[in-house]
Amino acid sequence: MSSFAAQSKNELTRVESPPCCRRAELSALVRINGTVSLHRRSIVLDVTTENAAIARHIFTLFKGLYGIHPEVLVRKKVRLKKNNVYFNRLTEDAKRVLLDLKILQRGHGDRLTQTEGIDPELIRSSCCRRAYLRGAFMASGSVNNPDSGSYHLEIVTTYQDHAAAICRLMNRFHLHAKVIERKKGYVVYIKEGDKIGEFLSIIGAHQSLLHFEDVRIMKDMRNSVNRLVNCETANLNKTIQAAMRQIENIRLIERELGLDQLPARLREVAEVRLKYPEITLTELGQMLPGGKVSKSAVNHRLRKLDEIANQLRRHTEG
Ligand SMILES: [Zn+2]
Repeated sequence: MSSFAAQSKNELTRVESPPCCRRAELSALVRINGTVSLHRRSIVLDVTTENAAIARHIFTLFKGLYGIHPEVLVRKKVRLKKNNVYFNRLTEDAKRVLLDLKILQRGHGDRLTQTEGIDPELIRSSCCRRAYLRGAFMASGSVNNPDSGSYHLEIVTTYQDHAAAICRLMNRFHLHAKVIERKKGYVVYIKEGDKIGEFLSIIGAHQSLLHFEDVRIMKDMRNSVNRLVNCETANLNKTIQAAMRQIENIRLIERELGLDQLPARLREVAEVRLKYPEITLTELGQMLPGGKVSKSAVNHRLRKLDEIANQLRRHTEG
């Protein structure tokens, strides 16, 4: 995960929110990072994260909303990455909490089933919709460093219906989010820099947003300056090359034929071009005796001079 993503998540754990929002946030965290298992016929819920601040945050949310203290466990990963994995484990309260968080629901014959998408009750108010996205981002979100080559923010979830619901929720804020299926699950992502900035603002990562925008503005400015320079250099090269070719041809005509042998309108263009090698065709047209001659007319006359020079070349070679 990028350092910027880690920094944003740490900031999000410090966002103060009302109880309605805390429930939405915790629901997203548990839905994405929770694992339900059966132990002696009762439900056990583990909510895992590799981020210690998020683990503490989950603990605080459980305590504040339900007055319960999850059991906290730490596993050291030895093989893959060396990050610790933190568990918030619920045993006797797991079922009650999962029902209240609208992750499980009672179906036919009191059977427990998983809720499709996101229960509308959780995200009724705008504040709670933001909170849900905040929870989802803390659970499995990542975002490229703003100075990296490309803009990318994503949230991964195992379930297709959940990914679709998160995507819809993001797009209620006009974030242009999309879903793609990957090996690690369903990925909801945003690709546009300004939309990533808006997302950070929506979920309350204001410090991170400021940093993101600072870097982005610098980068975009550098890019547009580079584009401008490249573009001007390219045009300049083309103009210079054309002028050099024209002058070479005019000198050939002067040597082999004499400019006074040319019709007046060609001779005039040739003389002005020799005198001002660096000017554009439009400027050249304005400097001709008799006043304003259009760019295309100047171009036509110069091409005529090119033809004459080419004929002279063929003649001298032959
Ligand atoms: Zn709320």
